[in-house]
Amino acid sequence: MRHLTKSFGALRVLDDVSLQLPAGSVTAIIGPSGSGKSTLLRSINRLERADSGFVLIDGEVLGYRREGDVLQELKESETLQRRATLGMVFQNFNLFPHLTALQNVAEAPVATGRATRAVAESEAAALLARVGLSDKAESYPRQLSGGQQQRVAIARAMALRPRVLLFDEPTSALDPELVKEVLDVIQALARSGTTLVIVTHEIGFAREVADRIVFMEGGRIVESGTPEDIFNNPQQPRTAAFLAKVL
Ligand code: ADP
Ligand code: MG
Repeated sequence: MRHLTKSFGALRVLDDVSLQLPAGSVTAIIGPSGSGKSTLLRSINRLERADSGFVLIDGEVLGYRREGDVLQELKESETLQRRATLGMVFQNFNLFPHLTALQNVAEAPVATGRATRAVAESEAAALLARVGLSDKAESYPRQLSGGQQQRVAIARAMALRPRVLLFDEPTSALDPELVKEVLDVIQALARSGTTLVIVTHEIGFAREVADRIVFMEGGRIVESGTPEDIFNNPQQPRTAAFLAKVL
């Protein structure tokens, strides 16, 4: 991310945010409510249009096509295709209620023409196995617990084989006893080398799983570093004040 800036009316929600995510790394974004964490994820994914700045993946600017020396903005239909390089998991799961778990996972590969339904469904079955839900393939979202729904949502996000998976508070809508099953799936993804960005209030989890912690406040990255740096030796008073409240 290079110099991402975004305002809603007079409110500057992202203020010159630059961040680099090495392939295979796990980055946890922490910070108070309203600090711009969701807007940052949505701007990376182009669900939100940044006012300025851009996102590069392997040297390619997301949402633009290079024509000679000129960058041409892609049409909405084209960005939908490109967005597949990024997968997103939301706080409230956002599953399609009228589709089974298997169909939820298979939907995007079929809809984008990346796979036949038969191939997509066999891959979906493998993904559901990976998140521990083989026995729930034929269940509808309303028949699943929150933790199970979120695991389906993770499988669905992986179905397009994204380069980066973005999680926006993936456990904050869950009953406490269901948090661990979802964090365990995310931890397994982290170990498998998937590049992850996780906005989370689960500070213990961030400390254990993340390579890098980013502390945001007021639309800016106040401080970032290893968990050791941030939790044991914060350099900025605002980081220390936030951690004193949540630890
Ligand atoms: P966080 O995820 O860190 O809680 P958000 O990115 O959701 O923060 O929001 C940052 C700020 O932007 C908040 O003040 C929020 O009210 C505001 N905001 C977010 N989305 C919109 C929107 N679509 N329109 C107007 N203001 C918004
Ligand atoms: Mg948020």
